[in-house]
Amino acid sequence: MIVILRSDATEAQIQHIVNRATKLGLKSNISRGVERTVIGFIGPEDALRVIPLEVFPGVEQVMQVLAPYRLVSREFKKQDTVIKLPYHTAVGGKKIVVMAGPCSVEGYDSLLSIAKKVKGLGATILRGGAFKPRTSPYDFQGLGEEGLQILQRVGKEVGICTISEVMDTRQVELVARYVDILQIGARNVQNFSLLKEVGTSKKPVMLKRGMSATIKEWLMSAEYLLANGNFEVMLCERGIRTFETATRNTLDINAVAVARRLSHLPVIVDPSHGTGSWEYVAAGARAGVAAGCDGLMIEVHENPEEALSDGAQSLMPDKFEELMTVCKRIAQAVGREV
Ligand code: PEP
Ligand code: MN
Repeated sequence: MIVILRSDATEAQIQHIVNRATKLGLKSNISRGVERTVIGFIGPEDALRVIPLEVFPGVEQVMQVLAPYRLVSREFKKQDTVIKLPYHTAVGGKKIVVMAGPCSVEGYDSLLSIAKKVKGLGATILRGGAFKPRTSPYDFQGLGEEGLQILQRVGKEVGICTISEVMDTRQVELVARYVDILQIGARNVQNFSLLKEVGTSKKPVMLKRGMSATIKEWLMSAEYLLANGNFEVMLCERGIRTFETATRNTLDINAVAVARRLSHLPVIVDPSHGTGSWEYVAAGARAGVAAGCDGLMIEVHENPEEALSDGAQSLMPDKFEELMTVCKRIAQAVGREV
């Protein structure tokens, strides 16, 4: 249940409602928008039915949110969520953010070099995995904490935000210490212990869609993060499994429009994992921008042949440059900026 407040509702009136809800065993979440303030209640909602919230001073409307993903839904919050990051970066506004970098952090020199290049071409977030979810235990598993240290150092030296995956509840505090955005990978989209733990973290999160997760399941996973207190969540479409074998995954462009309609959270498109092949990455990225995404995540590597993971889907800097040029034009055509 959510309560929409009148535009002239006072702080005392808001507190009065919150206090009553607390006494009934509910947690309140106050979302202060430009147009209106909304209180969402988390907990045994039936308890609320015993008090006539409609007549409380300052209340305009009491609404039952029908979507099972309540806090994530557009019913709960009409305006797009905008997540502020260091270096004047924001995710969810008019500007489409670009996250770029290697699949894995491989070393200081290579990361520094690619970071300078992608920043020079317009990326504002540097990606690089330190804990890698690999199908085979014999494949490169990431540099671990050393990788995070390199990512943080390069981010500071270049002046760019950073994102890296957290795979395990035991790593949340560690990864959060080094990066600006925690990434939850496709394989962990329904790792509810991890979602709860990251929900209590103060760091913005990017939640990838699971390769077999429906949009509803993906949004329910995002709900875990919000319900545990973290509202700085972005969603990332990274391709799903279908019968098609020509590409590694099938990038679900529909999901961009659907998620944007159902939720106020920013939606990022990752055509690198969505296609699995550098030759199709640009097409997927262009489609994502045209469909209304709020950001792109692109794997870029200076020497894909030698990459320790995902070389086949990594763009060389010159291809990344071409892609940025065309995305700028598409963004403009749909009323956005890159
Ligand atoms: C990644 O971003 O490198 C990654 C492993 O992504 P996903 O979880 O989408 O497979
Ligand atoms: Mn990868």
